[in-house]
Amino acid sequence: MIKNKTWNRKKIVTVFFICVAIFMVLTGRLIYLMVFQSEYYTEKAQQLHERERSIKAARGRILDANGTVIADNKTVCTISVIHNQIKEPDKIVEVLSRELGLSEEYVRGRVEKYSAIERIKSNVDKEIGDAIRAYNLEGVKVDEDYKRYYPYGSLASKVLGFTGGDNQGIIGLEVKYEEYLKGTEGTILTVTDARGVEIDEAGEQRIEPIAGNDLYLSLDMNIQSYATQLAKQVMETKQAERVSILVMNPQNGEIMAMVDVPEFDLNHPYELPEGTNTEGLSDEAKQELLNQMWRNGCISDTYEPGSTFKIVTAAAGLESGVVTCEDQFSCPGYIMVEDRRIRCHKTTGHGSENFVQATMNSCKLVFTKMLLFYPRIALSLANSSPLASSNL
Ligand SMILES: [Zn+2]
Repeated sequence: MIKNKTWNRKKIVTVFFICVAIFMVLTGRLIYLMVFQSEYYTEKAQQLHERERSIKAARGRILDANGTVIADNKTVCTISVIHNQIKEPDKIVEVLSRELGLSEEYVRGRVEKYSAIERIKSNVDKEIGDAIRAYNLEGVKVDEDYKRYYPYGSLASKVLGFTGGDNQGIIGLEVKYEEYLKGTEGTILTVTDARGVEIDEAGEQRIEPIAGNDLYLSLDMNIQSYATQLAKQVMETKQAERVSILVMNPQNGEIMAMVDVPEFDLNHPYELPEGTNTEGLSDEAKQELLNQMWRNGCISDTYEPGSTFKIVTAAAGLESGVVTCEDQFSCPGYIMVEDRRIRCHKTTGHGSENFVQATMNSCKLVFTKMLLFYPRIALSLANSSPLASSNL
């Protein structure tokens, strides 16, 4: 009997310690989950209960020297459906396919698909978006969005560049000034229950988007337009493949017009010129054709400065005293430099001329002669510059 009692007490103590041990393990686990893992699970729950939709920021506009808008935004809509909130699927399929001009099978596929949010169509005109919103269909979301729009079509296309599907700059100024133009996207946060239905009392939390900065150019669309017409005429008469014109303000070097015809339509930048045969071409070959069409020869190609550099030589020559306006020259139509015969553009020669006349004639002989004196010109320029004298 005594033996039996002792055995019973032992059993109780053992069970007690086993319980304590289990309890301690559970407490430990609870502390681990609630204290150390709390961030991880809070985030997971938020992902489940919060639905996030982004609000696109309006991209900064581009304006010319006169303040004319040359790259603008058009408001468009994105239509999406939220599966869990749909109450009248047949009506939604009917309305959306009719308003958006899509096939019923396509819309039904999207509406019946089980997903958090399903995009039906983007870049929808605002009027159509408003019409769909007016039906007040549950589970159909109409979000406003922006699409880049170029009112001048192809004018200055290679300078401005264009944007892609996410409104990001692809070429030209659109990509060069991307960080200033793009702005900051906003978000709409809505809280949903476990089934994904939005909780009305929780309301929505909006973080408003910040519009991008406007970009003001020195480009003047009037001058650009005239220069483009001229370039097209020259291309026609000379049967040239491409013609470039650059108009700069001589006072400060500002670019007033930059033309490189043929240009392309900024509102349809992926359409190759008419008559381009793309049959049987690989995607890379097609992309190469597009790159060629977008290429701005004024910036990407090199061209020797040629006679325009005579201005620098003349200024340096006069400044250093190598020549004066009255100096006399005689041009026989060529000049020998070492063993090379360099021809003047007037092969019969300009004959007797002073420095002013030689500059007016753009006589190659006189300027070649001056460049032979170049070390002296450079030296005297360096000595006469205020920077050099202050260093001495
Ligand atoms: Zn000459």
